[in-house]
Amino acid sequence: MLILVVNAGSSSLKYQLIDMDGEKVLAKGNCDRIGIGGHIAHKTSDGRKFEADCTFPTHTEAFEKLVETLTTGDAAVIKDMSEISAVGHRIVQGAEVFSETTLVTDEVIEKIDGLAELAPVHNHAHALALRACKKVFSADVPQVVVFDTAFHQTMPPEAFMFGIPYEDYEKYHVRKYGFHGTSHRFVSKALADAMGRPQEGLKIVSCHLGNGSSITAVKDGKSIDTSMGFTPLDGVIMGTRSGCIDASAVTFLEKKLGLDPDQMSDYLNKKSGFLGVSGISSDNRDVCQAVEKGDKRAKLTTDMLCYEIKKYIGSYTAAMNGLDAVLFTGGIGENSCETREGACEGMEYFGIKLDKELNKKTRGTLTKISAPDSKVEVWVVPTNEELLIARDTLALISK
Ligand code: ADP
Repeated sequence: MLILVVNAGSSSLKYQLIDMDGEKVLAKGNCDRIGIGGHIAHKTSDGRKFEADCTFPTHTEAFEKLVETLTTGDAAVIKDMSEISAVGHRIVQGAEVFSETTLVTDEVIEKIDGLAELAPVHNHAHALALRACKKVFSADVPQVVVFDTAFHQTMPPEAFMFGIPYEDYEKYHVRKYGFHGTSHRFVSKALADAMGRPQEGLKIVSCHLGNGSSITAVKDGKSIDTSMGFTPLDGVIMGTRSGCIDASAVTFLEKKLGLDPDQMSDYLNKKSGFLGVSGISSDNRDVCQAVEKGDKRAKLTTDMLCYEIKKYIGSYTAAMNGLDAVLFTGGIGENSCETREGACEGMEYFGIKLDKELNKKTRGTLTKISAPDSKVEVWVVPTNEELLIARDTLALISK
């Protein structure tokens, strides 16, 4: 059975066509510049490539081109779009409305669009893509939505509430939602399987570190706390996002720099983080290279990330009353041995001891990197959000 997995933004539409028989990716690609031109870059698993400039006034034309590319030409992987059994969509914000993977109806699309105020960059774009997808695919192709926030809906109120007047939580839904839920769910389950233990009884700190980073306490297979908050700005320092900052520093800077709220949001989301502190780049690889050359601000940037991860591990160990394993995933978590070593340094009190040589050698593969006598296991677990979306889609349509 073939499932198309879609991750739509306001001007882009990333996709993977997955054969669930063997969970194999047949092709993947990206339609971008939607609304401002159009371009498709497409690649098949056997190495064929197709790239072209197109005209994508809306997501509908992008979906049409995607289907055309999958079914015709040198990089086609199927004969007819009827071979696609279902479409699974990644949705950023499900708020308190969606706590699980859901079958798409007109009402569901309206609700996703209605949450746009809580995810201005994403949810409206998701709704546009869902409507476009409905136009291009026949009505009997089920569509399914998988929410980044859903996994975190198990957090208790003491973890998700902010200390603001309660009526504003009720009226405006201002609370911690958490993000990267699909990734944390995938890797925490994959880790339990690798450890040969049921999720029940397992206490894991899941560190998803990429351009955006979040850390989650996973107890009994459920999220009980997470570092991202009302938006994906909160938590540890990221590529261009500040991470956690005293709200008074925000209003202070707004006044000093003469910024309006939208400009301040830009400052915190796009000009801060690794980029802002190092002054070099938002990309961890560039910052690490500068560290090697002795750049002090680059060193400060990587030290900040490691220190913050350490604090989350400590606080989530307290929240779970114990810790069985720490896992690292995402572009940085899977590849940067320096970050993993820095975050696990001086954590013997918590029972964490890394096998430093093994850590240095490990890149992007499921590997236990803790020393044999480490009380807490430390693992690298590659994430695969698209596969989880495809699995969820299959499970829901099979019901
Ligand atoms: P996104 O959050 O956009 O999905 P990724 O999970 O792909 O991002 O992570 C991107 C980050 O991973 C970048 O900061 C990049 O520098 C970092 N990264 C990728 N490969 C390596 C590597 N080999 N060593 C260190 N950092 C890496």
